[in-house]
Amino acid sequence: MKNQIKLLDKEFVLFIEEDRIQNRIIQIADQINNDYKDKIPTFLIVLKGALLFAADLLKRIKVRCKVEVISAKSYGNEMESSGTVKLKHLESNFKNKDLIIIEDVIDTGLTMKTLLDDINKYEPNSIEVAAILTKPNAIKTNVKIKYVGFEIDNLFVVGYGLDYAEFGRELPDIYVLKV
Ligand code: 5GP
Ligand code: MG
Repeated sequence: MKNQIKLLDKEFVLFIEEDRIQNRIIQIADQINNDYKDKIPTFLIVLKGALLFAADLLKRIKVRCKVEVISAKSYGNEMESSGTVKLKHLESNFKNKDLIIIEDVIDTGLTMKTLLDDINKYEPNSIEVAAILTKPNAIKTNVKIKYVGFEIDNLFVVGYGLDYAEFGRELPDIYVLKV
């Protein structure tokens, strides 16, 4: 892994290494395997940011489960939440399902709040959220995130699914904007 990278006009420095991410995911998967041992959860992957986290997490899931995708867009090409969230989902038969939403990062929580309000209309049996990152100091809504990878400060990060203007998603480590 590199200690520094450049994406377009911005420089980023190494923040959370691949090994730490993978070790944390093993713990989260163990927790989910235990919590859902008598259930058949449906994992709902929030594209595109949660792609890498979802793939790594799903490989460690031992309970019978289903997978669906949803897309949510709030940032555009900016580095701050725009405040408006666009949602699209292919499947909407969530009635009576035990859903686990897989998200990349909870920043203000606005995206997740919008998503939860939308999904709740389909009357699932339960909904929990797994996010590889949360920013407790940026949160503006009261969403409960049951499975959290890492709590970070109010920083802009890329890599491991997260982008800067669509670049950097493929990086196996997480990088933070250099100040
Ligand atoms: P929220 O609605 O919670 O403010 O923002 C959530 C969405 O904004 C995330 O799903 C993610 O797509 C994007 N986002 C929030 N923080 C970051 C960040 O630090 N880096 C990147 N690349 N995207 C972020
Ligand atoms: Mg996202």
